[in-house]
Order: sequence, then structure tokens, then C-alpha cells
Amino acid sequence: MAKNTWEIAKKAIESHDNIFIFHHRRPDGDCLGSQFGLRELIRTNYPEKNVYVFGDTGGIFPFFEWDFDKFEDVPKKHFENSLGVVVDANSSNRIQFAEYILDKNFTHMLRIDHHPVDPDINYDYTWEDATFAAAAEQIGYIAMKAKWKVTTKAAKYTYLGINTDSGRFQYEYVVQRTFDVMSYLHKDNDFRVWDVNFDLSKRDERKVRFAAYVLLNYKSEGKVLYFHVTKRIQKKFNLADNEANDVNILANIGDCKIWVLFIDEPDGNIRARVRSNGIWINHICEKYKPGGGHEVAAGASCRSKADMKSLIEDLKAEVIKHDRD
Ligand code: AMP
Repeated sequence: MAKNTWEIAKKAIESHDNIFIFHHRRPDGDCLGSQFGLRELIRTNYPEKNVYVFGDTGGIFPFFEWDFDKFEDVPKKHFENSLGVVVDANSSNRIQFAEYILDKNFTHMLRIDHHPVDPDINYDYTWEDATFAAAAEQIGYIAMKAKWKVTTKAAKYTYLGINTDSGRFQYEYVVQRTFDVMSYLHKDNDFRVWDVNFDLSKRDERKVRFAAYVLLNYKSEGKVLYFHVTKRIQKKFNLADNEANDVNILANIGDCKIWVLFIDEPDGNIRARVRSNGIWINHICEKYKPGGGHEVAAGASCRSKADMKSLIEDLKAEVIKHDRD
């Protein structure tokens, strides 16, 4: 069930002079595209407002300009009548620089998100709708419904989010509305999807070799496929943990229902990225804290090989339950 509509987001933005936009930890194309897309849209359509973006890309999507602001550079008076906006995220443990929010720097808080989550932050305004393929689709939808002008730059950022979170328009949440938004992003500007797609399609040789290795060495148990990206393997392919992490290398092979990539992280945690082609897996991921996410795309945290085994067993049991029903 959706919480509110696009109108609450527009109202929140319109009633504040100073807007501060946040993305989630371990950023991806959707949270970054939503954040910078929204910034550009506000700058164009409400030029009198001040808009700031906080965060860090960790080096991803280098072909875009990611000109983040520094909290210490914000003039004190801009915290008056201010709105903190969290896009594509929810709880404080998921937000990059959540401390700025928890320290109550902002007059009000808005959340625009497509994750079905009850967060620990008390947002004054929430538009949550899990039927959207991407938070960036929500941003584009606000622009379309509010008839905002879309610059080429705003369209590119917003499209990055829609493209990446929808798996290039292949997932089940992609509907007519997604294409209506895409059409609107082209209105009265020079935006062409190719200008983003070409950069997105370039492949890093190290990652190609890594993908080949994963495909030759994954494990398969009861329609669950998995692979453990150990520190040794990261070293072998000269990839960092946030580079050797494409879970969809294992997507939809044979009769598999669920696939998992376990990734050793520098702090000793083992990150599990879990995907499914129908069976809901987020409630299982929630058991491995912090864990959760969407029905068919979620994440979990494991501390040991025993945790990994237990997660695989839980997922196998879910497949058996699903096949029986
Ligand atoms: P990822 O595998 O990191 O792309 O995550 C897939 C989805 O699950 C995203 O929507 C994330 O927001 C969510 N997710 C991933 N890890 C966690 C976690 N540890 N806790 C809660 N949600 C998560």
C-alpha cells in the first residue's frame, strides 16, 4: 500500500526555501540519479530556492558530474525553513550522513522512496510507493505531474536511476507509467538515452574476467545459486568489494529461482546480495541483520560461513514451500 502521493512531495518542496538531499549508503544509480535529478529539477523550476546534495559516489558512474556539497560550507541561515529530503532510502542506518538528520539540523523531513519500510526517522512528509521501478521514476513522475521543465541534465540523472533500478526496463515493476515518465524526460530538451547508455554499456575487463569466473564456479543447491566473493578472489581479479559485486551475473540460469552473491567486506562482514525471479525473499533477509529490501531484490548481513549456510538453507526452504503451494 502506497503512503501518500507525489503531491505531498511537491507541497513539501514548495513550502521550504532550503532543500538538502540525501542518498543511501553504498550508493547506486538510483539513489544518485534521484538525488541529482531532483536537485536539477528544483534549480530549474524554483530558482529562488537553495539546493544542497550530500554524499559520495565511491567512484561509481564517473562519466557523470557528481558535485556534492560540504555540510561545513552551508551558511547557517540556510538551515532556517529547511527541508531534508531522503531519496530511495528510509532508516537512519541506510542513509549516508544520517547524522546531519539525527542532529535535527532541518526544519522538516521528506522521504521519497520505493521501498516498503517503516523507518526509525519521523518524517514530516512521506511519499512511499513500492510499485515504482525506481525512486528516480518517482522523481520523474513528480516532474511530469507538476509539469516541471526538464533540462537535458535533469533528464540524464533521472534516467540513470530508472535504467539501473529497472534492470534496463526488464523487471516486473516496469509499466506504462514508466514509459510515460521516460517520454516526459525527453520534453523540450536534447536528452537521448544513448548519451547515457553508451557509457553504461562499457565493460571493465577485470569485471568481465570476474564474471566468467563466477559463471564457471557458482554453487547450485535446490534452485538456489550462490557464489562467495572472498578476499582472495577480490585480489585475484584486482577488484574491490564494491566492484566485484554484480549479483545478476547469476540471474535466471536454468531452473534457478533465487541467486545470491556473498561478498567479503573490509570490516569482516559478509554482505549478501539476494535476488529472485518471483519468490519473495526480503522477509528472509530481514533475519540477517541489518537486512531487508524489496520483495525480489534484497540484502542481508552474514558474520560467518555458518550464517551463509543458514541463509542458503532458509532460501532453499522458501523455494520448496513455493513449489508446493
Ligand atoms: P543491493 O543488493 O545492495 O542492491 O540491495 C537490494 C535492495 O535491498 C536495495 O533496495 C537495498 O536498499 C536493500 N538492502 C540491501 N541491503 C540491505 C540491508 N542490509 N538492510 C536493509 N535493506 C537492504
